[in-house]
Amino acid sequence: MKYIDEYRDGRIAGSLAADIQARATRPWVLMEICGGQTHTIMRYGLEELLPQQVELVHGPGCPVCVAPLEIVDKAIAIASTPGVIFVSYGDMLRVPGSRSDLFRVKAAGGDVRIAYSPMDALKIARENPRRRVVFLGIGFETTAPANAMAVWQAKQEGLANFSMLVSHVLVPPAMRMILGSRNNRVQGLIAPGHVCTVMGWREYEDLAREFHLPVVITGFEPLDLLEAIRMLVAQLEEGRAEVENQYVRSVSYAGNLPAQRLIEQVFETADRQWRGIGNIPMSGFRLREEFAAHDAEKIFGTSKITAAEPAECISALVLQGLKKPADCLAFGTRCTPEQPLGAPMVSSEGVCAAYHQYRRYAGQEVTR
Ligand code: SF4
Repeated sequence: MKYIDEYRDGRIAGSLAADIQARATRPWVLMEICGGQTHTIMRYGLEELLPQQVELVHGPGCPVCVAPLEIVDKAIAIASTPGVIFVSYGDMLRVPGSRSDLFRVKAAGGDVRIAYSPMDALKIARENPRRRVVFLGIGFETTAPANAMAVWQAKQEGLANFSMLVSHVLVPPAMRMILGSRNNRVQGLIAPGHVCTVMGWREYEDLAREFHLPVVITGFEPLDLLEAIRMLVAQLEEGRAEVENQYVRSVSYAGNLPAQRLIEQVFETADRQWRGIGNIPMSGFRLREEFAAHDAEKIFGTSKITAAEPAECISALVLQGLKKPADCLAFGTRCTPEQPLGAPMVSSEGVCAAYHQYRRYAGQEVTR
């Protein structure tokens, strides 16, 4: 296939759904990790095409959603510092911290700017040599190469006024925690194509072996996802637990080696806090010591800031596939995209936002 429309062909979608129906002889629970995939599933009504035996649960793959409350509080503390230009992706501005958010800091006169790339923040730093410019570097393996490049470039140029507040997380350690939990329901994994484009899929072979788990790497179009579900159901019905690559147009076994080398040069793996879930050992990146001059945590002394998640938000359970957004008593009432209680209702990749946008207002009221 060559054009995007071909990946949305209703006739092929129908035949893939019929094939899934014919293969599924018993209940199976599959998890898609990536928030972009969750939004495709909701937007195109893919769940409605599936037989009742096949249930989709939604994983922790939205970077804004899993960014812990404390990183928002740290961002707010830095953005409120006089003279600082704080640069962030737009999604993060409305994510609530303990008492405020970045939009309110901006409204109160803070210099908070939206960027589409860390390179935009570098440009701002070059143009404002007397100001300290801080970029909020969040995300999974997908955004790590660009963030690593920005820090590496700042060091090469001697841009002493540029730093990064890093909150990078990694998919495999989070999945290992979910799959190893005694409450785990996930029997097959729809793996994120963009992460594997960067990192390859060696690590997913370990997951498949350790947990006897079928894994299919896939993309973000409706036919990608339906084909991945068909491949997973086939593996489950046949008792296989392998890694298969549906997303061959983008993903190779080894991944993007130059990008991996750049990540390795700038970042090292470290324990990371995940929103609601808590600390997962060696589940993220931090800047290596040789880049300490560009590490906002060290420059602004925010490493001691901690925060307790609001008890009402059950996003930790939602992001582990144990609950659905509609199970949350605040969903659509006290928590809406306009007045969010938790990050999954804010982010363009958030699962609660997806349920709210595509189901609640589409005449398909979700049941509690
Ligand atoms: S609906 Fe709101 S409060 Fe409930 S889990 Fe989602 S983000 Fe949290």
